[in-house]
Amino acid sequence: MAEVAEVMTEVTTEVAESEALATLHRVFGYETFRGEQEAVIEHVVSGGDAVVLMPTGGGKSLCYQIPALVRPGTGVVVSPLIALMQDQVDALRALGVRAGFMNSTQDFDERRTVEAEFLAGELDLIYLAPERLRLESTLDLLKRGKISVFAIDEAHCVSQWGHDFRPDYLSLSLLGERWPDVPRIALTATATHATHREITERLGMPDARHFVASFDRPNIQYRIVPKADPKKQLLAFLEEEHPGDAGIVYCLSRNSVEKTAEFLARNGIAAVPYHAGLDAGTRAAHQARFLREDGLVVCATIAFGMGIDKPDVRFVAHLDLPKSVEGYYQETGRAGRDGLPSTAWMAYGLNDVIQQRKMIQSSEGDEAFRRRASAHLEAMLALCETARCRRAQLLAYFGQDPAAEACGNCDTCLVPPETWDGTVAAQKVLSTVVRLQRERGQKFGAIQIVDILLGRKTAKVIQFDHDQLSVFGIGEELDEGAWRGVIRQMLAQGLLAVEGAYGTLVLTEASGTVLRREREVPLRKEQPKPVTARGSSGSSSGSGRAERKAKAAAAAAEMPSELLPAFEALRAWRAGQAKEQGVPAYVIFHDATLREIAALWPGSVEELGGISGIGEKKLVTYGEGVIGVLASLERPAGPAVAAPEPRRRSDGDPDLHWPETETEPEPEPEDWG
Ligand code: ADP
Ligand code: ZN
Repeated sequence: MAEVAEVMTEVTTEVAESEALATLHRVFGYETFRGEQEAVIEHVVSGGDAVVLMPTGGGKSLCYQIPALVRPGTGVVVSPLIALMQDQVDALRALGVRAGFMNSTQDFDERRTVEAEFLAGELDLIYLAPERLRLESTLDLLKRGKISVFAIDEAHCVSQWGHDFRPDYLSLSLLGERWPDVPRIALTATATHATHREITERLGMPDARHFVASFDRPNIQYRIVPKADPKKQLLAFLEEEHPGDAGIVYCLSRNSVEKTAEFLARNGIAAVPYHAGLDAGTRAAHQARFLREDGLVVCATIAFGMGIDKPDVRFVAHLDLPKSVEGYYQETGRAGRDGLPSTAWMAYGLNDVIQQRKMIQSSEGDEAFRRRASAHLEAMLALCETARCRRAQLLAYFGQDPAAEACGNCDTCLVPPETWDGTVAAQKVLSTVVRLQRERGQKFGAIQIVDILLGRKTAKVIQFDHDQLSVFGIGEELDEGAWRGVIRQMLAQGLLAVEGAYGTLVLTEASGTVLRREREVPLRKEQPKPVTARGSSGSSSGSGRAERKAKAAAAAAEMPSELLPAFEALRAWRAGQAKEQGVPAYVIFHDATLREIAALWPGSVEELGGISGIGEKKLVTYGEGVIGVLASLERPAGPAVAAPEPRRRSDGDPDLHWPETETEPEPEPEDWG
């Protein structure tokens, strides 16, 4: 008690902190606001409308959750992600926030309970799908209660150009008409100016203040490797750098999603597929497993991922080229929300370029659509082929200044690519294309061009007499992979183009300048050895799966090995708690929090309260349990780290006891075991 009294005196001598900051400490257990959070929250708490652009993992949720807690009434959150509402609500309840949702998965009684709680003013937050908001019955219900704030999550769904378009979002402008005095906050991780404008216009928020956060995600390491045998490359990447880690593998087609998941599973990696062609039950089950299990890999099309706020996704891999930098950034942003080191890895090759160019040309869209799609592809290719820092290039694309010209945490920074003078090689490729066209009136794809350059007498070469061309065999100084690299880079630089349904190679206006030696063609040398994130983590053969997992998690968290036993014990304890309550493990504590506990080794519940991510409710619920786990272990010798100071609490309640709440109904166990 003496300790608590001391804390109290400190509090009274401090300048009173804002209610928002007090809520951040008390409920969420975080020390400070991140970036734009504070400004956004202040603005909304005082009744202003806001449009918020923040990268995935940037911390958007707090921007509406804290105003909902601070302002009187219930915060209404509009979210398109019905399947995730239960988890979002569970996570909030674990923090002691009174949250509920209304959607089509509920039966009549459940909905009635939530409605009654809302009307009685017993909810801090209520989640709704946009289609429900259109119903007059819902609007009537909302009119009868008190609303603190409207939050429109995933606000880019209002944009007709994006692939996430939801027609129901268009009707959300009525919120401003019917509730002119309730502040509205629209949030998205999509950064383009066009989307930004559409959100403002279509949601009817002309007076909203705009907040644009830094889009940098420093803990994500960006890497793009030349594609050779993508599945094998992926497997090596996972085995070497992310054994036992949770992650997402994006593929373009449903077929490759299935094949990749099968391949990984056959090679001992827990992996499941996810795409729009699977039935709803399977999709929901796979998503639930991803959220609840430690270390599952989901192979997916872009249908997967929006709104998934699992904090410990350690990698996002792309086996095919994304269609735009926006898409790439949103998908990779799903890694490392907990701030711990994570990898964005992509394998990219000549076929990606040809395929996407073909797809654009044969698409049903009009000319404007094709122009837009091509511009997106060009930007994506520029990112892939750059010799500059990838992060700097990404940020520049979003119109932001990078902190430094070289980030030190992307492949081009870690191993600067060498360039070589590819002028002669480019001329050889172009000459071959010219000869075929002028002498034979033929157009061929990359495979045939490479076979001709290498002087290979394949069936197709003989069939067309291509061994009689003067360019036959003029390119034996490079191997097949190198030639494909040359062609790929020429396509990316606009020195060659792809035509028609067969993806034949044709000249562009710029080709002539190379043939006439009016310009040089610098090319990137393909990295012969892959860049790895943290060097080899050593062989883990002989160790069990659990141990491998713990090692992987520790490696990802860059944790000293002496802390491993404590981290592992805490994770095991957490898994037990999660199972008992039927919630994902991260709802109990994030890895980052467990890591800090292991490092600081708090000796008492009070000390534990100073650790980031442990608010009042969690301290009361789990404090004794965590201290018990540590007490059962031997504290490793090592440099003494000061235990954290108990966080100052401003609510003036020296008693850390949380008021009794009725126990929540156990959610239905998902079919994932
Ligand atoms: P977004 O919705 O923008 O993708 P989230 O709201 O899910 O991001 O936040 C990402 C992660 O960062 C979450 O795990 C959240 O708990 C954590 N976080 C958010 N704000 C803070 C903060 N001020 N201090 C520490 N962690 C934070
Ligand atoms: Zn860099």
